[in-house]
Amino acid sequence: MTDTDDPWDRPGLIGGAATAPQRVIRVYISKGGSAFHLDAECPWLHKGQSRAARSGLRLHDIESVHREVAEDAGKDECKWCFKDQTRRTS
Ligand SMILES: [Zn+2]
Repeated sequence: MTDTDDPWDRPGLIGGAATAPQRVIRVYISKGGSAFHLDAECPWLHKGQSRAARSGLRLHDIESVHREVAEDAGKDECKWCFKDQTRRTS
């Protein structure tokens, strides 16, 4: 994993005058998990981590990415992280 691979670290990419400021939702994903999370401290995120460890994958491989990136990767909303939102809109 390289540092330059992270678009969030590129100055210039964020705050460009040409692009309309969208509400960027950052989510957290882990390589072994099938969901994306709003909270880096989400217990499900860490539960997924321990499962990944048993599968021989690396631990602490949590990434912060744009929500669309996570969705493109086929991940679903974490039920735990999004439970408040669901409750709020219903
Ligand atoms: Zn979560």
